Amino acid sequence: MKKLIALLLAGVMTMSLLTACGGSDGTNADETTTDAAGAENEADAADAEDAADTENEADAAGAENEADNADAESEADAETGEVSEALADGVLTVGTNAEFPPFEYVDDNGEPDGFDIALIKAIGEKLGVEVVVENMEFDSLVAAIGSKIDVAIAGMTVTDERKASVDFSDAYYDAVQYVIVPEGSDIASAADLSGKAIGVQMGTTGDFIASDDVEGAEVSRYNKGVDAVNDLINGRVDCVIIDKNPALVFESTFEGQVKALPGEQFEFGTEEYAIAIPKGDGALLSQVNKALEEIKADGTFDELVKQYIEN
Ligand code: GLN
Repeated sequence: MKKLIALLLAGVMTMSLLTACGGSDGTNADETTTDAAGAENEADAADAEDAADTENEADAAGAENEADNADAESEADAETGEVSEALADGVLTVGTNAEFPPFEYVDDNGEPDGFDIALIKAIGEKLGVEVVVENMEFDSLVAAIGSKIDVAIAGMTVTDERKASVDFSDAYYDAVQYVIVPEGSDIASAADLSGKAIGVQMGTTGDFIASDDVEGAEVSRYNKGVDAVNDLINGRVDCVIIDKNPALVFESTFEGQVKALPGEQFEFGTEEYAIAIPKGDGALLSQVNKALEEIKADGTFDELVKQYIEN
């Protein structure tokens, strides 16, 4: 019952979102299509739900009321390896922000590709579901999980703030923030960052460091890391704080113009990337972690690292 109300609420929210985004550009047209599919999914999910509920009622002969039943359900999922409702439609809808090479970028055919995309497709294969990738702004991902998208993979660092809204899979990659400076810059230590104009990708851990930890910083936030680097080259910012691997990609893209400096030099701590999933979906969490484990054990993971990251 709780879930039925949640589904109805989700429906109402989708409708108000539709009303709110009722523009006429191409993006909105796409979104409408997605939402229509979402509505279908909801219907499917509702069906699956009914089936699951019937089963539960039969199983839990002694259950006192439905609220108790719903609580017991998520625990049972993790233990029995039951399939998550998010996968009931046979599709894993994955949000990413394809502006973060080598983890995600748009390939020559206009499709999202990269390490994360290949990894989540391998996970989808293990789970026996189709993977559909939705490219959106990084800053919108967490809020979209559980409604517009099932999960997000986006070189996303596990943070306590995000953990308040979503659950994270086991970590799959270690990261650290780097500082990109123009060739010849004298920025070399944490103290040198004070009072500087710093470019970051909006809503990222680089943004949090620049905004919260650097004294007197003048922070410029961009939707795309590459736009921050372009402004660095144009002299609009003094440096860019962004994750190591994209920083190294940008250093080679703009060779001779910028340098990527290791975060250790600035006393930045290590971070871990993980897949963000809806809070409380124990079944999906254990399914994703199991698939990840298998992908690591069978050598697929190392192959993807070679193909996308070490290349
Ligand atoms: N790892 C950073 C974060 O989670 C940046 C991720 C990204 O820009 N895709 O905030």
